[in-house]
Amino acid sequence: MIDRDLAVRLVVAAHARVNDHQEELSRLDSVAGDGDHGVNMATALAEAARRAEHDDHGTAAGVMRSTGAAFHETVGGAAGALFGAFFGAMAGQLSKAEAPDATQLVAGMEKGLARVARVGKAEPGHKTMIDALAPAVRAACESLNGENGLEAVMAAAARAARRGATETAGMRPSAGRARFAPDHSLGTEDPGANTVALVLESWADQLRTEVRA
Ligand code: ADP
Ligand code: MG
Repeated sequence: MIDRDLAVRLVVAAHARVNDHQEELSRLDSVAGDGDHGVNMATALAEAARRAEHDDHGTAAGVMRSTGAAFHETVGGAAGALFGAFFGAMAGQLSKAEAPDATQLVAGMEKGLARVARVGKAEPGHKTMIDALAPAVRAACESLNGENGLEAVMAAAARAARRGATETAGMRPSAGRARFAPDHSLGTEDPGANTVALVLESWADQLRTEVRA
């Protein structure tokens, strides 16, 4: 079951991972964007982790809702609103279950992807965070249908997200700031897709550690 404490540990793990990679994320964003992506994501997740640990959230849904709010409130820029939308939609889904498990988490990722697509109006192949998130959701659904547990489901999602992020290097951007410099960006991975991969990898690692403990 994904209880409040596990949700807190996932948010804290995501912050640690993205914080460790923030310079790389900003470097990717500086190629065709404005170079702020790593700082944006590290700042938002630092605030999300602070709220998760210190505020009084009763449920995993509450932690995810507060994480979404931290993105909306601390970061300007496209990705702040889009990751905020992702965590907000995830919270909405988790709040429907009294004891959310892997099924609800994957449904939450699906809802999150749908909301990001609706808000950002980007499609697969536009070289955005969608190009990591969509394959991750697909892999998570497949793994769940194969009767796997939470740890294996997240590991499959993380692998697919990383593959998706790597593949963005071969794409020309047609969404976000980078679309104004499409040729610059060719050969460089999309920063937002990398953040998706880092977050899901941190979640997979966290869950693996907990299963083995
Ligand atoms: P900004 O582009 O406003 O400076 P960031 O640098 O923090 O914001 O985030 C850039 C990332 O946001 C991109 O790498 C991309 O993954 C994502 N992004 C930007 N616009 C969109 C969009 N319309 N749909 C999906 N993702 C987007
Ligand atoms: Mg930027």
